Amino acid sequence: MQSRKVVIIGSGVAGMTAAIYLKRAGIDTLVIECDAPGGQLNRSSSIENYPGFKFIDGPTLAMNIYEQVMNLKVDYLFDKVVEIKENGNKKIVKTSKEEIECEYVVMATGRTSRTLNLDNERKYIGNGISFCALCDGNLYKNKEVVIVGGGNSAIEEAIYLASLCKKVTVIHRKDKLTAEEALINTLKTYDNVEIIYNVNIKKYNEEDNKIVSITLDNNMIIPTSGVFIAIGYVPINNLIDVKKDNGYIVVDNNYETSIKNIYACGDAIKKSAYQIATAVGEATNVAYNIIKMIKDTK
Ligand SMILES: Cc1cc2nc3c(=O)[nH]c(=O)nc-3n(C[C@H](O)[C@H](O)[C@H](O)COP(=O)(O)OP(=O)(O)OC[C@H]3O[C@@H](n4cnc5c(N)ncnc54)[C@H](O)[C@@H]3O)c2cc1C
Repeated sequence: MQSRKVVIIGSGVAGMTAAIYLKRAGIDTLVIECDAPGGQLNRSSSIENYPGFKFIDGPTLAMNIYEQVMNLKVDYLFDKVVEIKENGNKKIVKTSKEEIECEYVVMATGRTSRTLNLDNERKYIGNGISFCALCDGNLYKNKEVVIVGGGNSAIEEAIYLASLCKKVTVIHRKDKLTAEEALINTLKTYDNVEIIYNVNIKKYNEEDNKIVSITLDNNMIIPTSGVFIAIGYVPINNLIDVKKDNGYIVVDNNYETSIKNIYACGDAIKKSAYQIATAVGEATNVAYNIIKMIKDTK
């Protein structure tokens, strides 16, 4: 079994930031990631609120950070963590293939998209139902699509799709969009966008194994080739029984969880702003506190 000082679970912006600080402080660090480095950054077509960049797309920002991490020669393991166990003063991080012993764990596991839980939804995820306009939008070029949601992510997705698709219909369950004013104003500049308020999708209608339309709960039928769901998120953190609030990890002022030497940062934790800037700040604090703990115990 390999033994490490720190294991970071997740290579989104939070995990990579913690890795940069820890490695630069000379601390033995392993990052474990089950997907592409960058996490949710890979799904954002335009970022205009991260200081230093008037505009940058998410995948480019993700790659810039990953290159920085690679230049520091941070060790990576591409595998899925399935469990974290305690073993005396040490932790055991169990992946699908091996167990790694360490002194400190950083949970930077982020969050994933919520689904509508409708019949035949599972069948069409990745083939008619998507959670990422940037990843899948091109499949619907010049076609009609539907976006579900009214928050920042939904409107950002709608703007991106409006530039590609024939028609974009935004389905929102409330009577007002909750996205930032600037995003709503940009969306309004597109004349191929329709917003339908106070409705939910009741049913996906299929023909020849393809989604061809949706039925709303007011029985209106909207023809569509694809449905993009952007109705919020579910945190991913069932790896160990730390204290949680609504699924999000509760941390103290040092970003330590209810279990000693297990820290958490980024979208996995309970907080008010789920943003790149906050994830970077929290990860910096996590690394700083771990560095301090290691130096104090020397
Ligand atoms: C469409 C969209 C647009 C956005 N636009 C903006 C914006 O304009 N400005 C802004 O500030 N923020 C924006 N955000 C939010 C921002 O992207 C997130 O707050 C931020 O990226 C969260 O980073 P994170 O590292 O905490 O989590 P994530 O990016 O979710 O990364 C978590 C990583 O952990 C990995 N992981 C999870 N579980 C395991 C496991 N068991 N084993 C191994 N690896 C695991 C995942 O694969 C993932 O790579 C947007 C988000 C979306 C989806």
